[in-house]
Amino acid sequence: MVEGFFDRGAAIVEDKLVEELKTRESADNKRKRVRGILKIIKPCNHVLSISFPIKRDSGEWEVIEGVRAQHSQHRMPCKGGIRYSMDVSVDEVKALASLMTYKCAVVDVPFGGAKAGVKINPKKYSDNELEKITRRFTVELAKKGFIGPGIDVPAPDMGTGEREMSWIADTFATTMGYNDINAHACVTGKPISQGGIHGRISATGRGVFHGIENFINEAAFMSKLGMCPGFHDKTFVIQGFGNVGLHSMRYLHRYGAKCVGVGEIDGSIWNPDGIDPKELEEYKLANGTIVGFPNSTPYEGSILEADCDILVPAAGEKQLTKRNAPNVKAKIVAEGANGPTTPEADRIFLDRNILVIPDMYLNAGGVTVSYFEWLKNLNHVSYGRLTFKYERDSNYHLLMSVQESLERKFGKHGGAIPIVPTSEFQARIAGASEKDIVHSGLAFTMERSARQIMRTASRFRLGLDLRTAAYVNAIEKVFQVYAEAGLIFT
Ligand code: NAD
Repeated sequence: MVEGFFDRGAAIVEDKLVEELKTRESADNKRKRVRGILKIIKPCNHVLSISFPIKRDSGEWEVIEGVRAQHSQHRMPCKGGIRYSMDVSVDEVKALASLMTYKCAVVDVPFGGAKAGVKINPKKYSDNELEKITRRFTVELAKKGFIGPGIDVPAPDMGTGEREMSWIADTFATTMGYNDINAHACVTGKPISQGGIHGRISATGRGVFHGIENFINEAAFMSKLGMCPGFHDKTFVIQGFGNVGLHSMRYLHRYGAKCVGVGEIDGSIWNPDGIDPKELEEYKLANGTIVGFPNSTPYEGSILEADCDILVPAAGEKQLTKRNAPNVKAKIVAEGANGPTTPEADRIFLDRNILVIPDMYLNAGGVTVSYFEWLKNLNHVSYGRLTFKYERDSNYHLLMSVQESLERKFGKHGGAIPIVPTSEFQARIAGASEKDIVHSGLAFTMERSARQIMRTASRFRLGLDLRTAAYVNAIEKVFQVYAEAGLIFT
């Protein structure tokens, strides 16, 4: 799937790459060089398959299989999540690693792409067994140069979270990385106490919200869909109430859209008057499922085909296929998950004038904030720490200086002229906290990339085909690094 999408983007941008290539050679040789570089970009550079035994709590022994794929080292380190799922296969991990390269390029995060998968159903293992598996997998990665702050930095994905990232950081820092002051930067998505960053857990969902926001507020796109800009009259449905699904739902709800349905692996729920994300989160925590949520009715049939304006697939791959794409009622498909749409379904959506906001852009909030976390780890200081007091003092000095100027000009006959900050300024007077910096950095990144995608879509007359536009942008950026570094064919 990823290779097919890559080829489509590459075919569109090839002429431009040839035109802009700054080498002194014939047009024919330039084209050969461009095609050569595109060929180099496409495949995964390194793939490591691992098998290791663990002793289960029952005393039985089991062999665990895992894979890590590094797609590209054009920027270092490589970056990409680790998932625990029974669906893990080498091909899937390679595809997801390639997608990571393009995703990082689209949002200008200077990493190559990678991905890992461990073929287990994490629900079937105790905490003790999961810890053993995670620590052993980390050691195996480290032995082969597949983890390290400057070479390859994993992150959470399906079935993993802060806890697993914490085990990984600790294992690396106390083994291969024991003499590396940056050892904890070997993984992101860690708890704060282990060098994590505020806002990472919700970053992907927050990015999904910003990504939709950038297009839904664009009158030109909305008029093509026959919709009004803005969130307030919009309904949405989420498939997969995990990390990405929950946080996407929270932000969409907060900014005025109404969640009418949520689908999970064991059942779906529906309420045309809206489902509250906080209540649903609490219900799931207490019951381990969303099924039976009081303010809803069970939804019979496929939630992907439910009546809504925005559909957010936030579960697994290949959920939208040629079978169900003709029945999708949403006008916007917002890909929270990686690879939820098959190429056939993608074509059907284009033909049906449905806007697909592609995964490689839309769910890039996670890797963007992971980048901020990695930088924080390398800096060994949290954002804002050095400037908090200085900014607060400067702001008070500014207010005082305005006050003194006014008093000099108009005198103090009626008493002092106090300059009272507005409530917005008051809230910012103490300077930006780490969370503020993360949130504004993420919003800026999502907006800038959306503008780049829109410009490319318009330049190549791609209409609603944002996926191809995003691939074109990614390919151009990765290509430039290869071409200018003279890495090949010199
Ligand atoms: P998660 O494990 O936290 O949640 C996934 C949820 O989907 C689970 O609740 C699971 O029960 C549900 N689910 C699985 N199959 C389903 C199905 N067929 N129908 C309905 N629900 C189903 O995983 P996550 O981290 O939220 O990741 C979800 C997707 O988002 C994946 O494709 C992942 O690669 C992608 N993603 C995640 C991140 C991140 O930061 N976690 C970043 C970028 C992309």
